[in-house]
Amino acid sequence: MFGGLVKLEAVTDNHMHIDPRGGMGLEAAKRFKRAGGTCMFLVNKMSKDWDVTVTKASDFTAVFEGTVELGQMIAEETGLVVFPVVGVHPAELVYLCERFGTVRALEISTGAVDIAGGFVENRMAAALGEIGRPHYPVEPDVFEVSNKLLEHAMCVAKDLGCALQLHTESASEKLFDDLSKMIKNTRIKYDKVVKHFSGPETALAQKYGITPSVLSSTENITAALKHNTGFLMESDYIDDNTRPGAVLGPKTVPRVTKKLVEEGLLSLEDAARIHCDNIEKTYGVEIK
Ligand SMILES: [Zn+2]
Repeated sequence: MFGGLVKLEAVTDNHMHIDPRGGMGLEAAKRFKRAGGTCMFLVNKMSKDWDVTVTKASDFTAVFEGTVELGQMIAEETGLVVFPVVGVHPAELVYLCERFGTVRALEISTGAVDIAGGFVENRMAAALGEIGRPHYPVEPDVFEVSNKLLEHAMCVAKDLGCALQLHTESASEKLFDDLSKMIKNTRIKYDKVVKHFSGPETALAQKYGITPSVLSSTENITAALKHNTGFLMESDYIDDNTRPGAVLGPKTVPRVTKKLVEEGLLSLEDAARIHCDNIEKTYGVEIK
């Protein structure tokens, strides 16, 4: 009932996909903006979504370029601040393993991550991601190359001083122990490692110094706020017309944020910390 009164300076969705071919495209970004969104991290969709058949690393250039151009178009049409995030999704690596075997798949995907690093270096993208390991069971050798690609991505991110959005299985001590070892080996800063698709148990990631990006249902954010404000918010919107309602919609992050502010469960200062300060610190960007 106080809907019109809450005015938030920054509302950032830390992980969204927009698909101009198989989804709503620009309309999804407009809905995000109308609901109160100001800034989005636009993570590339997979090669198949861009009608790109990958046989070598450089084939990913078209996927990353397409994402950067899409981000520019969204920014121009809506006035949103858009930060592209580029990388090789774990499911994409699984697919490459099926087609080429693990050795060649690793060659292609590490080459692609190097190319993605070039986009960050040239300031066309803000971070690497989503990279990591499948959230579903795979053969041990596929799991092993996923870890190798992840460690390589950490090295590239460390050299560039940029953040890395992780896609992994659900949070557990075992996961964070594994990640912690890789972080130590590669010397990337812990807080530059962002655990995408985090649940409300942010304390576990935070214990290891990793930045949780919480899937923003009202329940998850309410629970996370009981602990502290050291997290990011995301919808993981996938913009896929063949899977309507499979995930949270593009308006989720602004809607949930406003609702919690209106209900007195989130102060404006804390909202600014989550949507602005945490983002600026993690990614080394300015969003105001
Ligand atoms: Zn994603």
